[in-house]
Amino acid sequence: MNFAVVYAIAAFWRTRQLAKRLRTRADVARWQAARLDRFLRHAVARVPYYAGLGARRLADLPIVDKQVLLANFDKFNVKGATYPDVRAALDRGDEKVGDLFIGQSTGTSGNRGVYVISEAERFTWLGVMLAKTLPDVLFARHKVALALPGYNKLYASAAETGRLSLRFFDLALGVDAWRAEIEAYAPDTIVAPPKVLRILAETSRIRPLNVFSGAEVLDPLDRASVEARFGARVREIYMATEGLFGVGCREGTLHLAEDVVAFEFEPGGGDLVSPLVTDFTRTTQIMARYRMNDLLRLSSRGCACGSPLQCVESIEGRHDDVFQLGGFGDALVSVTPDVMRNAVVDADRRILDFRVTQIGVDRVVLTLAHDLPAEAGARAVAALHAALLKVGAVEPRVELRSGIEAPFDRKLRRVRREWRPS
Ligand SMILES: [Zn+2]
Repeated sequence: MNFAVVYAIAAFWRTRQLAKRLRTRADVARWQAARLDRFLRHAVARVPYYAGLGARRLADLPIVDKQVLLANFDKFNVKGATYPDVRAALDRGDEKVGDLFIGQSTGTSGNRGVYVISEAERFTWLGVMLAKTLPDVLFARHKVALALPGYNKLYASAAETGRLSLRFFDLALGVDAWRAEIEAYAPDTIVAPPKVLRILAETSRIRPLNVFSGAEVLDPLDRASVEARFGARVREIYMATEGLFGVGCREGTLHLAEDVVAFEFEPGGGDLVSPLVTDFTRTTQIMARYRMNDLLRLSSRGCACGSPLQCVESIEGRHDDVFQLGGFGDALVSVTPDVMRNAVVDADRRILDFRVTQIGVDRVVLTLAHDLPAEAGARAVAALHAALLKVGAVEPRVELRSGIEAPFDRKLRRVRREWRPS
């Protein structure tokens, strides 16, 4: 057995104990304050980027984003691994640089997010993840199918440990390539992007009991389809290259992982917020006050499951997909993805999928399924146009296109901004 499995088991038990200990918001605040204090004194102080800062409170640290991180990559990790080192390793097909493991995002652009993590941290992450998703994993057998970008090889060493069987399905190949294999495996638990869950729910014979959606925004359209066919609740896993940020509970509510990450929030437009994350469990590469690109709608309600961890109403897409449309004068009007999504989906109940893309300062393309009746398309165009006018866009033009493509090697972003103000 790999020695690092010990870290997974330790993290598993710690996470389960914490779930019992943290009963109120005050408990969470006290736990975070103690962990952050240690994190700032020890882990943060050890990497060059923060050397000499003497930070005592989180607010003493500067806010950082992906650009800052990539430009100063070696200053954020204890081994001095540089960004070119990491890129060169990835180009060779290596998953390690020195003795550190490399994680990376699935973006298509040249500056994909990357991070380095020790083997112990990798298994700690796995332990936290398992405790939040399959708390009975040590007592009950589970067959888990994992189809997530970038996870094909990462946990191969933990693939058959005790009662847990993990099998990886390669997203890039598409569902057709492994539908028969996953049917034969008959997993009781599946973790996959919502578009893949939906295809499997609609076209395969598997009927998992535990269904987790990760790596992409879970649209209510997909949730409804998957839950109806699988007969199981879809639980969301909010994860990114940068870490694990939230997991849906048995009630189906997404709770932020405040037992391992401290969250701060910046305004994201409308009632949405964008998180700054501080992972106080990681010490190899420091992630502190790191600006995420996601738009969240927080919930002010508690959850019937009893967890005091912050509830998230929905994840509404990415900050850089907020449309910037021409308003009065030279002003640009911001439109968050949820506004456009709701306008389109509410226009006609036959609309089960859509794409909205901004391609110019006043040009928006709406793409709908090729077999959708024309009048439904016309309604959606009118509704989208009206929604854009309502938020202050002047003369937005909405073009209708037909035929939706769903490439598997990329993240699904139903609302997408391709145009940038110069
Ligand atoms: Zn809950």
